[in-house]
Amino acid sequence: MSRDLIAGLEQQLRELDAQALRRKLRVTDSPCDAQIRVDGRDMLAFCSNDYLGLAAHPHIVEALREGALRYGAGSGASHLISGHSRAHAVLEERLAEFVSPQIDNARALYFCTGYMANLAMLGALGGTDAELFSESLNHASLIDGARLSRAKVQVYPHGDVAQLAALLQASKAETKLVVTDSVFSMDGNLAPLNELTALCEQHGAWLIVDDAHGFGVLGEHGRGVLEHLQLKSPNIVYMGTLGKAAGVAGAFVAAHASVIEWLVQRARPYIYTTASSPAVAHALLTAIDIVAGDEGNARRAKLRMLIEQFCKETVLRNWQLLPSATAIQPVVIGGNDEALRAAAALYDAGYWVPAIRPPTVPAGTARLRVTLSAAHRKEDVSHLSAAILSLENA
Ligand code: PMP
Repeated sequence: MSRDLIAGLEQQLRELDAQALRRKLRVTDSPCDAQIRVDGRDMLAFCSNDYLGLAAHPHIVEALREGALRYGAGSGASHLISGHSRAHAVLEERLAEFVSPQIDNARALYFCTGYMANLAMLGALGGTDAELFSESLNHASLIDGARLSRAKVQVYPHGDVAQLAALLQASKAETKLVVTDSVFSMDGNLAPLNELTALCEQHGAWLIVDDAHGFGVLGEHGRGVLEHLQLKSPNIVYMGTLGKAAGVAGAFVAAHASVIEWLVQRARPYIYTTASSPAVAHALLTAIDIVAGDEGNARRAKLRMLIEQFCKETVLRNWQLLPSATAIQPVVIGGNDEALRAAAALYDAGYWVPAIRPPTVPAGTARLRVTLSAAHRKEDVSHLSAAILSLENA
């Protein structure tokens, strides 16, 4: 019997191979930086979300060591039992203070991952009486959170505020939630958050903003998309991740203190899991100080300069560079095979750029997802542009 079960899976894996949809794990042997050692080679990496180049920052690494010495390696229990260390509490206070210009009466709650934070928000604010309006390009964790919430889910087309307005108008649900990425993770463009906020206020709906790719990068001080757009609303529940621009791991939800208290009482991915290592929370304090300070400003300025340079230098004829002003710069190729071949050719030439295929992106829009980082040098970006252009014309 068990042999048949395995044979069935093996058959499905072969089908993935046939469609060029099988994903491969690659093992790295160096810290995440502009260059990453993989398969015994130093590759120029345009694949991480380490937008400010902080993942291997010596002060953050030192803080992680200090945190482990002070608090130990593991938290030992979930937050509501005995796992909520001083390190977690201080980090949450620091995060709340950091985002407080954009959120009145702010409190922040730290999660092990952004994936869990998204499940937590939607699960705790949703329920069978709720209706949830989900943008069509939302990240998988929001899609899964919507399913877990048991709310009635309506998917509205990408960026289509008019369609969303019609759906909200027609809704009879007591609780309404509009859920969106701020920066779309595979396209790099921004959601129309000003309009979405106005709509949510008009219809008494929550606006759940996943700022995984904006926190630390957008806004003058790196407070994220709300600062970038100078947006503030009691309807907004904000999620920022800490494993991308902040360089470490985890995520936080920030909102009015009563919303956060509700999550503490009701969010199952917060309650029923072991708290993250307190050493990680301690390291994040240093990471946030860097993001918020002069060094963060300088790194954001450098990243903006590299983004402009890449857009200027990557003038494509057959493939399409999507219109994005963020560090996510997708080159849409189309077919899965073609995108894989392009990524393999870049890899052979020493550039690590992932090919993103369905179901992560719609069929026919397989792409190279180039991500830029303040850790890159101008020459790195020029060389990548030239390599992409020569492949396109090959
Ligand atoms: N939301 C978005 C838009 C993301 O891109 C990601 C990570 N890829 C997440 C949430 C999940 O965050 P984490 O990696 O911290 O689980």
